[in-house]
Amino acid sequence: MTSPEDIHSSLRADETEETGAKFLGIAARYFARTRLGEGQVSTPLDPAEIAKRFSEAMPLDGTSVEAIVARLERDVLPDANKFCHPMYMGHQVCAPLPAAVWTESVIGALNQSLAIFEMSPTGTMLEHQVIRWMCDLVGYPPGSAGTMTSGGTEATFTAILSARNAALPNSWDDGVAGDAGYVIHGEHAHYAVTRAIGQLGLGKKRGVAIRSKNFRMDTAHLSETLDRLVSEKKTVIAVVATAGSTATGSFDDLDAIADLCDKHGVWLHVDGAHGASALLSKDPPAAVRALKRARSLAWDPHKGMLLPLSAGMLLVRDERDLEGAFSQQAPYLFKSGDAERNPDHGFRSFQCSRRADVLKLWVALQRYGARGIGELYDGLCARTRELHALIDRYPEFENIHEPESNILCFRYKGPDQLNAELRPSFNKNGTGWITSTVLEGRSVLRVTIMNPRTETEHLQALLDGLSAEATKLGA
Ligand SMILES: *Cc1c(COP(=O)(O)O)cnc(C)c1O
Repeated sequence: MTSPEDIHSSLRADETEETGAKFLGIAARYFARTRLGEGQVSTPLDPAEIAKRFSEAMPLDGTSVEAIVARLERDVLPDANKFCHPMYMGHQVCAPLPAAVWTESVIGALNQSLAIFEMSPTGTMLEHQVIRWMCDLVGYPPGSAGTMTSGGTEATFTAILSARNAALPNSWDDGVAGDAGYVIHGEHAHYAVTRAIGQLGLGKKRGVAIRSKNFRMDTAHLSETLDRLVSEKKTVIAVVATAGSTATGSFDDLDAIADLCDKHGVWLHVDGAHGASALLSKDPPAAVRALKRARSLAWDPHKGMLLPLSAGMLLVRDERDLEGAFSQQAPYLFKSGDAERNPDHGFRSFQCSRRADVLKLWVALQRYGARGIGELYDGLCARTRELHALIDRYPEFENIHEPESNILCFRYKGPDQLNAELRPSFNKNGTGWITSTVLEGRSVLRVTIMNPRTETEHLQALLDGLSAEATKLGA
């Protein structure tokens, strides 16, 4: 119990390496247990059962570190989702790189806020440097820039805000009214896009969805749509293409889409939250070479670069576009190429207090190298292709698409209902964890490989496990 008098002695004791090691020990034991593939992958418990475990009065007095460590290991870890378990193949959340995980405690201890240089001299300049590396990797010219975000959602919101301010220069001061402007996106675009359209006051109906063809944006339909809107004298704020779609990991035909945007002088934003990490690949999909044609690009290192949450970024080909996101005047005030004289990130970012997420990205690049991380990304994609090939050898399953990254959708041959029930029933049994989605009106099973520990034997265990579960459900 900590009384008000000895709170300061608790602080002194907790600042030591000895106490720190106790918390790091939890994470290290978690890494070790999941490496062996031990324990349940997630939890069979429902929200009410978990809520009951934590339902207690707010602690008024402190307790020992030992008691807290024991409670974390008893009450939190066992029913947490274990992204480091090789049988976790669900959502696009990764088994994080350990050096980046350890860096989190340094980020917390330093607690720099990366809005303005005066609050974070080294962090601010590191963010500029790492963004420079990423822009170079995209193939952006000098004068490109970016900012780190909480993820793809914030990056895409910021990009569409910049595009809106560019297309409707008075909107920052006067607001948007009437038939302000349209944002065109693929029908399978992440909800970050339609949400941004709503948040920006454009009105949900000014989001125009383009049909998919083979899970990519149908460029013929995009071309017709652009022609129609232009002939109706509508303002097109942006076209949002996807590099690595959430549902199937597919890459839109970015070159064809960029040609159409160039023809009409329309802002191309590419949502590469999932797939831009293919820039690190030895053998990236062809569309990756066209990422440099995007006027803005969302990229989540916390997905394909295996960083712990959160680490996202928005890159722009011309830094003035980003200065224009949060104020209409800034583009005229800002001198381009001037990060040293004008280093603050605050005025190009949605956030005020900003975590130094760049530190863990910088540490991960130093420890593993861009090549090492690229090799891990390629390994995840190779594993996904392996699963695709394996499915062809199981008569009870059918493939739906060729994998283009580390996401694969497939079906159990049988009624839709069975496919819909298979996932929750399999996930509950604790041996593995996958997701599902609906494609072309059919329920499908969906796997994302985000863990370098997932190997061939685990893919087999997944298909065997799903097959056994389907039999239990009466297939
Ligand atoms: C994950 C994802 C997002 C959302 O990114 P967050 O980091 O979760 O905010 C947006 N678009 C695509 C294509 C994604 O895969």
